[in-house]
Amino acid sequence: MSALATRPKVDAEIGKAVDLDLSGAWLVDPASGREGPADVVVRAGILESVTWLEAGDGGAEDDRGVVVAPGFIDLHAHLREPGNETAETIASGLAAAAHGGFTTVCAMPNTTPPIDRAAMVIAELAGAAASGSPVRLLPIGAATLGRAGEQLAPLGELADAGVVGFSDDGAPVQHAELFRNALSYAGMLGLPLIDHPEDLALTAGAEANEGLVATVLGLKGWPAAAESNAVARDIALLAEVVRDVPGTRLHLTHLSTAGSLDAVRRAKAAGLPVTCDVTPHHLALTDEWIAGARRFAWAAHGEDGEARDPWRDRGLVAAPYASSLRVNPPLRSAVDARACLQALLDGTADAVATDHAPHTQVDKDMEFGLAKPGIAGIETALGVLLEAVDAGLLPLSRLITALTTGPAGVLGGVVEPGFAIGAPADLVVFDRAERWTVGPDSLRTRGWGNPLADRSLPGVVLLTVAGGRLAHG
Ligand SMILES: [Zn+2]
Repeated sequence: MSALATRPKVDAEIGKAVDLDLSGAWLVDPASGREGPADVVVRAGILESVTWLEAGDGGAEDDRGVVVAPGFIDLHAHLREPGNETAETIASGLAAAAHGGFTTVCAMPNTTPPIDRAAMVIAELAGAAASGSPVRLLPIGAATLGRAGEQLAPLGELADAGVVGFSDDGAPVQHAELFRNALSYAGMLGLPLIDHPEDLALTAGAEANEGLVATVLGLKGWPAAAESNAVARDIALLAEVVRDVPGTRLHLTHLSTAGSLDAVRRAKAAGLPVTCDVTPHHLALTDEWIAGARRFAWAAHGEDGEARDPWRDRGLVAAPYASSLRVNPPLRSAVDARACLQALLDGTADAVATDHAPHTQVDKDMEFGLAKPGIAGIETALGVLLEAVDAGLLPLSRLITALTTGPAGVLGGVVEPGFAIGAPADLVVFDRAERWTVGPDSLRTRGWGNPLADRSLPGVVLLTVAGGRLAHG
């Protein structure tokens, strides 16, 4: 098939209702579980028709060209407004999201000041409306006042103002009794509590995943147990709270170790209402990148599943200590990365979330251990995941569900990704066969320093339509 035959043409400006005729592109509809070539017609932003084509009708013969999917949903992004608009604004963050194929973005509350009162939520939503972007911003409210971990935020008031969950992300809710109360109250309000699982007693001064790379580079180790301890505590408290508050939901974000994913796997098998997400960088990158390796995780372990030693294989091609790779939780071993992928494949991980965390050059371009943690990855998420698809490790349909129905399930029905006729179109169109080069000129984020800079990734997003309106294209 020819990718050009189905390349969409849209005359609308950003924010305006779209007319669209997509002919014969590969449509993936995770709500119905169906995929194949189809014609899609949108008029004045409304999805008018979807016509599935039979083989030989001239549509795409496989999923390797232009793909149409529901707009992606990011459960975890940092937009930095208010307080750090040099790093990102609501407008630049939503533009970056649209460029990455996302039509819904959950914004974490660790702004300055944090989103811990209704007035802050209202201001955030007004900022999204004023940005002109049709990308839907779903606010997450702080779980504790000022994210200080001392007393609960006014959760009911935040829920009334429109938050879709509660989190102190950037930090865990460390105090167990407070965490238990946050779970109960969030559950009574029908909203998930989203925890960043980190045992802070184990991570003071930690710089890189505890292991060979950290040892050789002289970086302070960040043990896997810091995450699995916190996950175990959260699940133990969930098991008690859910007996009294049946609506309780716990979501564990950016899980990065085999051990913590195993704990979630067991908790799910026991019927507990827990969900989790993994990030593209924990799936595809490993701690050996800090030593200068640049191969994806699946090339960094042998057939036996053991992590290979980048010094022995001469896998080191870049300068070590690139601070763009400092992230919380840290990049882990190839074995942990493989566990993240396995968790996605077996459904232990419900979603891929980007943890888009932009920083200024001032905060990021410094000694490894002093750089602010975070990767601004909302625009590279699709390309990184497509690398795993191209390596034969992840079905395209699972990539799509991990970015659409998976996160929608975590949010509990706030968004319904799919192709409902008569509803505003909400979709992304990307060309899997086309590649692009990551760099400041090709990214919309204000965040400095992407670890994938100068690398080419598959999957050019041709068009993003959010709520019937043009978001990118
Ligand atoms: Zn976090």
